[in-house]
Amino acid sequence: MKTFDIPEQDEYFRDHFNAVTEDGKRNWFYPQKPKGNWHNRRVWFTVVLLGLLFAAPFIKLNRQPLLLFNVLERKFIIFGIFIGPQDYWLFGLTMLSFMVFIVLFTTVFGRLWCGWACPQTVFMEMVFRKIEYAIEGDAGKQKLLNKAPWNTDKIIKKGSKYFLFLAVSFLIANLLLAYVIGVDELGKIISEPIGEHIPLFSGIVGFTAIFYFNFAWLRDQACTVVCPYGRLQGVLMDRNSIVVAYDYKRGETRGKLHKGKERTEGDCISCNQCVAVCPTGIDIRNGMQMECVNCTACIDACDSIMDRVGFDRGLIRYTSENAIVNKTSKLITPRVIGYVVVLILLWSGLGFMLASRTDTQTTMFRAPGSQYVENKDGSISNLYTFKIFNKTNHVVRPKLVLENSQGKLIFAGTPDLTLDGAGMAQGTVFIVIPKSELTSRKTKLKLSVYQNNEKLETFETTFMAPQN
Ligand code: SF4
Ligand code: SF4
Repeated sequence: MKTFDIPEQDEYFRDHFNAVTEDGKRNWFYPQKPKGNWHNRRVWFTVVLLGLLFAAPFIKLNRQPLLLFNVLERKFIIFGIFIGPQDYWLFGLTMLSFMVFIVLFTTVFGRLWCGWACPQTVFMEMVFRKIEYAIEGDAGKQKLLNKAPWNTDKIIKKGSKYFLFLAVSFLIANLLLAYVIGVDELGKIISEPIGEHIPLFSGIVGFTAIFYFNFAWLRDQACTVVCPYGRLQGVLMDRNSIVVAYDYKRGETRGKLHKGKERTEGDCISCNQCVAVCPTGIDIRNGMQMECVNCTACIDACDSIMDRVGFDRGLIRYTSENAIVNKTSKLITPRVIGYVVVLILLWSGLGFMLASRTDTQTTMFRAPGSQYVENKDGSISNLYTFKIFNKTNHVVRPKLVLENSQGKLIFAGTPDLTLDGAGMAQGTVFIVIPKSELTSRKTKLKLSVYQNNEKLETFETTFMAPQN
């Protein structure tokens, strides 16, 4: 992880993980309740974000969910665009574009996502932590309660807190499932006998347990130990990235404030308030660290101290290393331009694939080992096997039509070509063409897939005939 070029202080933080004590035990953090302008902005942002998050599964576009991430059946709907199991190119390109976008976003805005929109931070700091503050009080009271013997007050407080944690975890598990299987399926699990939905109901129970464990116990370690995105920050960010940072040029040399004495030190008065509010237990004055989720709590804490001592706000603020050192900030760097170019290329490819996408995808090959057959009526037959994939999320009843020939299609048996959403049908078919129409040994045939009078797709196959 890159660190700022700060004046030499206690170097302990460089090779010690704050969340673990010297004897290898969990270092449980008790961050003080954050308050201030940035926190208020985050609260409003969270209200809107959670509103959207809970509303989105109910929003439908063209009779299908706006968003669906059905990893179980490999079906995805992103803003109304259905991506099924056959759309692996589309899926791959979407994922690649998404990753390049994340790299670009992180290079410019650092960990803005972590602090403002990551579900882990949003639920942890804005929901679970708020419940904890409401029931147990601020950091000091929480510490006292944990040390206190199990009396009625402690049992009621802990019991009600963990009950609410469990209820919210259950709600989040349902929300997650709404994004995976859709609200209609989720509604069935809720309204029908549980016995009919054991696997999915077990999923809800399992995810409730995982979320409960995460928010009640794992907490900051989900960001600092588990999350791969946090670990990538060191390579994604540079000296121009906008992050929550301590202006060490202004703050150092730090030192206590002594009333009535002329101050020769920097603006940091070593009050440690920025450390006291940090949910990951770090000291922002040590420079950019992997553990910092850019939650802005230390900005508010420091600003309120600056107000109290009469110094300018912004000793800790959103800024970049270059802005602190050189007083210049460059958002558009060659690196950013490079990422933008790659992203535009990827999005163009994605746009082209979406525009040229057909509702069905058909493959038709001559049956392995089969030869052409010369019929008594002077026609030639070739035997084919075919597969039709439905690339939409609704039922399609396709009809195969031979386009550039007077021939006909004779299906083996009566295959049911009704395709469910993302479904597939297959069968065997003879293509029979009058010999008079065939001028060479190999003829390219054009076939189309129709539904009612709408042409869904056109494809080609090869027809073999005896040499004239
Ligand atoms: S809150 Fe501000 S003044 Fe206090 S220790 Fe942190 S950086 Fe220094
Ligand atoms: S250092 Fe500041 S911004 Fe980073 S996690 Fe701690 S309180 Fe939040």
